[in-house]
Amino acid sequence: MPAKGYVEILVDTCKGCGLCVANCPTQCLALKQDDTNVYGYHYSYMSEPEKCIACMNCAVMCPDSVITVYKKKS
Ligand code: SF4
Ligand code: SF4
Repeated sequence: MPAKGYVEILVDTCKGCGLCVANCPTQCLALKQDDTNVYGYHYSYMSEPEKCIACMNCAVMCPDSVITVYKKKS
């Protein structure tokens, strides 16, 4: 099934808390274990972008509002 949405994450503002990862219902986010941002945090990224349903959970949960969700036109 094609992705219904995608997210943009401001990598250098992410503190790697993992709340977005834990609250994504389709498990399409993960913390980048083999890379860090300028502050040394393992930032969040779309590990399985095809699973995104544009539900907004990640953006709502992020304490620093670094995620923007876009809905794809079908
Ligand atoms: S919008 Fe929903 S499905 Fe897409 S990454 Fe965020 S929590 Fe996951
Ligand atoms: S909730 Fe926000 S700060 Fe926390 S890991 Fe996700 S994007 Fe980064």
